[in-house]
Amino acid sequence: MIFYLNLVLTLGYLHVKNTKEKPAAVVVAVDKNTGKYALNTNGNIPEKVAPELKDMAGKLGGLGTKTKCGNIVGRCAEFRAANDLMLKNPRLKAKDIDISGALRPRGRKHVKRCDNCGAMFGPEL
Ligand SMILES: [Zn+2]
Repeated sequence: MIFYLNLVLTLGYLHVKNTKEKPAAVVVAVDKNTGKYALNTNGNIPEKVAPELKDMAGKLGGLGTKTKCGNIVGRCAEFRAANDLMLKNPRLKAKDIDISGALRPRGRKHVKRCDNCGAMFGPEL
């Protein structure tokens, strides 16, 4: 599974590397049961957020809260990618999602999972 995640992540990296937005991070989230994946970058809080993720965000102070780690709940690539999968499959639970480590498209550096995402999705694989 980790090999697969890294492969998809590399595709995602190639995809966003030359975009104007130059996002800070790109990740891939995978539905462990079906293998369906979603690539996303950090960005705005999604307009529509899956109920389970909204509950998880609530435990961290709610969507839009800037927490001690310096990140804003709901803006991370991990959150946005997991949300994409959960909106497409409303029965999908967060525990059934694997999320890759994050890559910074500029320089292809690894971006450490932040405390918010660690609390929601567990430690990095
Ligand atoms: Zn995060």
